[in-house]
Amino acid sequence: MAIIGIAGTTYYGEDEVPFHGNKVIYTRKGFVDAIQAMGHIPLIIPNDKPERAANYINIVDKLILMGGEDVSPQYYNEEPDKLLGNTNPERDVFEFALIESALDQGKSIFGVCRGLQVLNVKFGGTLFQDVSYTGTKIKHMQVPTKQRFPTHSIEVKSDSVLNFLGQTHMVNSFHHQSIKQLADNFTAIAHAKDGIIEAISDTQRKIIAVQWHPEATWHRFDKDKALFSYFLNDL
Ligand code: MN
Repeated sequence: MAIIGIAGTTYYGEDEVPFHGNKVIYTRKGFVDAIQAMGHIPLIIPNDKPERAANYINIVDKLILMGGEDVSPQYYNEEPDKLLGNTNPERDVFEFALIESALDQGKSIFGVCRGLQVLNVKFGGTLFQDVSYTGTKIKHMQVPTKQRFPTHSIEVKSDSVLNFLGQTHMVNSFHHQSIKQLADNFTAIAHAKDGIIEAISDTQRKIIAVQWHPEATWHRFDKDKALFSYFLNDL
């Protein structure tokens, strides 16, 4: 039985909704459910100072980085573009430190959506600040279609660690940014039809990351369940 740290999201309570304006630290229940269903222990890691990141990694076996704010473009040496969304540089630097500690301790990492983008930036890659700059015609922000419904296809590399997904896999899509320059250590192992990178891996460092949200679909689709199983039991 493994303890799985999930880097949490902080909601600062500036608005009346959600959470009635209360400040909260939370994660998506889909991660918790998947980890529990597969016999492991989920543990939400609250945002903290980067110098304290190792203390959290010390008590978990693996790390999940989930969705949320855009990564601050200052960390890939760009000015904020007019289409940039909400950012939280304090979360960025804490998650960079969690990644560093996980590497130091040889613990595997699973990035989801923003998690994939944080990992790419941490290792020197860059992002399109809005997916429209890729020139794509594919709808990568599928709102208002619900998260449990996959909407676009991806092609998975047959020689990759995610080949159990099959050559073609259907995914949901809730990202308005995407990888521009892939960091050197990563291999792109799945792409949408427009060429946008949908999954990356670094087998040496025990990292996988996907641009879609399997936490919203694993209970309905065996292949997304297998993705969690791969991370939880094999990576
Ligand atoms: Mn997509």
